[in-house]
Amino acid sequence: MKFNENFLKLEENYIFNDLKLQIQELENSDTEIIDLGIGDVKLPLFPLVTSAMKKACDELSEKKTFLGYPPSQGYLFLREKIARNYLDEGACVDADEIFITDGAKGQLGNVLELFSNNLKVLFLSPCYPAGAEANILLGNKVTFLSGNKENSFIPNPPFDKSFDLIYICSPNNPTGSAFSHNDLKIWINYALSTGAIIIYDGAYSAFLPDGYPKTVYAIKGAKNCAIETRSFSKSLGFTGVRCGFTVVPKDLGDCNKLWKRRLGCRFNGVSYPTQRGAEAIFCKEGKAEVKKRINFYKTNAEILKIALKNKNLWYNNTVSSPYVFAKVPNAETSRDFCKKMLAKIRVVATPGSGFLQGGEGYFRLSAFETRKKILEAADRILTL
Ligand code: PLP
Repeated sequence: MKFNENFLKLEENYIFNDLKLQIQELENSDTEIIDLGIGDVKLPLFPLVTSAMKKACDELSEKKTFLGYPPSQGYLFLREKIARNYLDEGACVDADEIFITDGAKGQLGNVLELFSNNLKVLFLSPCYPAGAEANILLGNKVTFLSGNKENSFIPNPPFDKSFDLIYICSPNNPTGSAFSHNDLKIWINYALSTGAIIIYDGAYSAFLPDGYPKTVYAIKGAKNCAIETRSFSKSLGFTGVRCGFTVVPKDLGDCNKLWKRRLGCRFNGVSYPTQRGAEAIFCKEGKAEVKKRINFYKTNAEILKIALKNKNLWYNNTVSSPYVFAKVPNAETSRDFCKKMLAKIRVVATPGSGFLQGGEGYFRLSAFETRKKILEAADRILTL
């Protein structure tokens, strides 16, 4: 048997599994470890969501209202709510262009089944590694275009080159930088003029303040060149429940038709209680709850930034993110710095090198924690 040799091109461990191993090693030490490494939420599901899920489970326990396989594209009740929400975001997306998913991570690689092999793929980096690794595994040619402090981690297109696919994430994980309307317009025009398709990762769109495009489809021409994937993981606390959605526009060649065909052989849908839980948030009260939660995490980020400022550490000062992306203070590698930080103050940070090209020299702190732990972490950072 010949295995996929592209595995050899990946790091031995996925970055966040590596962090988990480091935490396990220190778990029995005297000082409690504060994990600001892996961006997993810590606050529980909203009561509004859990009551909808419980009601859905009750329905499934009755013969009259029992349901089997869900539609693989997702229930219309949820897709219609999402489509209506797109209108509020200044975009026109039809329920038939929306596909309910078990989250965004898999989608970053799954979409590749729409296209031929040996693709030239551009990643704006540093970036969340899942999409790049999926491309590497398939043998695609991955190129990185690194942002930096000077361009606020929003690079301009390489106008002298062309690519088949371009991955953009806004607000970006890990940097927190968000694309303005104008930034996105430049990239969409570049994609349209070179024939590229943009894979737009909006996993953190709920964190964008007013004035920033919440969806790529708020920009003219995007439906002709972009697939968007979104997630309920961070906004609804669904990292464990698993639900999100992907938009494959009908104006994107045959992609919408082909994606439906793909679902037929690859996906049996997301559970009914999960979809009812997600649906429950699309009301005035639900949206207000989400906003409050997002602001809570963003305030956590501000607290961490104050501690970093007091230590004279540079950070990317954005207001769109549950993460703080900061500069390693000296010439050591981000991995060594994070190891030292864990050993000295028992706070886990993610080394920037885990976010691929352009990430070395930085580290990321997650603000997805309780206020108590964030305050404790901020105090410990002051003793670094
Ligand atoms: N995209 C980005 C940029 C992320 O940071 C993450 C998770 O951290 C994901 C996608 C995956 O999200 P999900 O939990 O929906 O799979």
